[in-house]
Amino acid sequence: MKEFKAESKRLLDLMINSIYTNKEIFLRELISNASDAIDKLYYESLTNKDLNIKKEDLKINISLDKEKRTITISDNGCGMDEKELENNLGTIAKSGSLNFKQEKEKKEDIEIIGQFGVGFYSAFMVSSKVTVYSKKYNATQGYVWTSKGAEGYSIEPCDMESYGTKIVLNIKEDSEDEKYSEFLEEYKIKDMVKKYSDYIRYPIQMLCSEEKLKDGSKTEYETVQVLKNLNSMIPIWKKSKDKVTEEEYESFYREKFGDYEKPVKVIPVSVEGTCSYKALLYIPSHEPYDYYTPNFKKGLQLYSNGVLIMEKCEELLPDYYCFVNGLVDSEDLSLNISREILQHDRQLKLIEKSIEKKINTELMNLLKEDRESYEKFYNAFGRQLKYGTYSEFGMNKEKLQDLLLFHSSFTKKLSTLEEYVERMKEDQKSIYYACGESVDKIDMLPQVEKVKEKGYEIFYLTDSIDEFVFQTMMEYKDKTFKNVSSEDLDLDTKEEKEAIKKENEENKDMLEYMKEILKDDIQEVRFTNRLKNHPVCLTTEGGISIEMEKVINSMPADQKIKAKIVLEINNSHPIANKLKELFKENKEELKNYTKILFATSKLIEGLEVKNPTEISNLICEAISK
Ligand code: ADP
Repeated sequence: MKEFKAESKRLLDLMINSIYTNKEIFLRELISNASDAIDKLYYESLTNKDLNIKKEDLKINISLDKEKRTITISDNGCGMDEKELENNLGTIAKSGSLNFKQEKEKKEDIEIIGQFGVGFYSAFMVSSKVTVYSKKYNATQGYVWTSKGAEGYSIEPCDMESYGTKIVLNIKEDSEDEKYSEFLEEYKIKDMVKKYSDYIRYPIQMLCSEEKLKDGSKTEYETVQVLKNLNSMIPIWKKSKDKVTEEEYESFYREKFGDYEKPVKVIPVSVEGTCSYKALLYIPSHEPYDYYTPNFKKGLQLYSNGVLIMEKCEELLPDYYCFVNGLVDSEDLSLNISREILQHDRQLKLIEKSIEKKINTELMNLLKEDRESYEKFYNAFGRQLKYGTYSEFGMNKEKLQDLLLFHSSFTKKLSTLEEYVERMKEDQKSIYYACGESVDKIDMLPQVEKVKEKGYEIFYLTDSIDEFVFQTMMEYKDKTFKNVSSEDLDLDTKEEKEAIKKENEENKDMLEYMKEILKDDIQEVRFTNRLKNHPVCLTTEGGISIEMEKVINSMPADQKIKAKIVLEINNSHPIANKLKELFKENKEELKNYTKILFATSKLIEGLEVKNPTEISNLICEAISK
């Protein structure tokens, strides 16, 4: 007897103690495995001429034995050799990505199970013993894998006539809560196949009892056993849209793509024309568990006329739609397609373009028709759309810009650029934005106050990539983007502009003096009209804002950049006069206050104060006076 690997053991425990309430899905899992195994063999046979496989022979068989309390599921797929039995059934296939946290709530365990597609172990939810007979298609020897659950498993050689896999489940005895015997009923199995596995492309057959008139009799019936197909075998994506319920699409999604949550959008596609194809696309509602790891790969399953030829065909999705799940089936593709050929395949390029358009349209529709779901989606994948807008020198910005959302100072919610522009005041030329760590922090920025007072809406950008997106876009519907901290906000009237210019000229010497004190850190010191209640703020000249400086310098590059910082002083704040006074009477004190003011304006921006001890001492000195 061998022991299961630790992670498998844990999953097995969960199965045996069956936290998972939906026990009947075990059949779906085993049928899917059987179908995958047939797929593998069939695909292999297309390229390997030594294999003489006929499509019409490929099938899955189910048989029930009430007396022995067994369900047997067999397939004539690729089968497994000894090593594969050991590797595939002794460990969780995707164990590498499994990260069980030891003390988790049960609810989360269920999600973990769901996440991985419950898989083979689900058999233990209903079985006291599981026996797997398997023989690989090119082997002479078969092997049998047996396990009663947690204690472990054993593998031994066995005789098998033909290749494939046969799984025998010894169904558990009924308990007070659970009637396992139900799974031994013909009607139940039929229901379960119809419900979960109808689209499986190989016949799922079972001997079914049928009442039939006795030979020669017109009134007397007898029960006979007839081999029946339980599934319709039409893949879900080949059925017409109105013949498939939302639930069927969703259940297919959960099972096929191992997601435990419903997708925010299901997109069935059917295109006829120069390149005909069918596709079934899903927009997930949350990030997949490996989204932020190098293991994550974009791509859609690729079928050629119903036969799976590739698990993840990256060529079908642009990077900014990498989160889309689903499959494409085209009759026009060559079956012997290889990666290299794929990259240059014209058909595939056409399909990609068409799929991209479709996703774009559907996301726009979702945004317009179901804002709540769209925002859920956007919270998970919005960043990807922003990257798409910004990368490749903004080549795709037109396609993506209307899918972007930003936090609005007006609505206090997420808003599109289009909505912003619709709300713009008549005289407003620019789309205003402010950057910071969080909406609350940005809302308290001194630079924001006056713009808001003028009645202009501001987009609050909290994502480090946001400002780069605006910079790449340059404009939206002929409106430029303006950071509220940039040099020329153009909010003042002509008179106000004249007045502040005069003020700065008259106090030139003082401002120069203050600049000299802060020397390397600063470009200029000046009086401003842009502030309302706050005494000082930092703004920037040129294309690099303070936020951009932060973002770029946080990246692992040798070259650091520097924003051209300006210290602006509120002309109508009492501090303005105080400074002027000091310049005449006490230059030493002006020096200290300049340092304090610069430090406080840096704090507001979330920048580091280089000399905190000195500043702290200067403040205490001022207080003590
Ligand atoms: P998953 O199907 O998600 O990979 P499972 O636990 O269901 O995980 O199965 C583990 C592996 O065992 C499969 O990936 C497959 O390689 C193998 N396997 C399971 N059932 C069969 C079968 N009927 N025929 C051949 N191989 C199988």
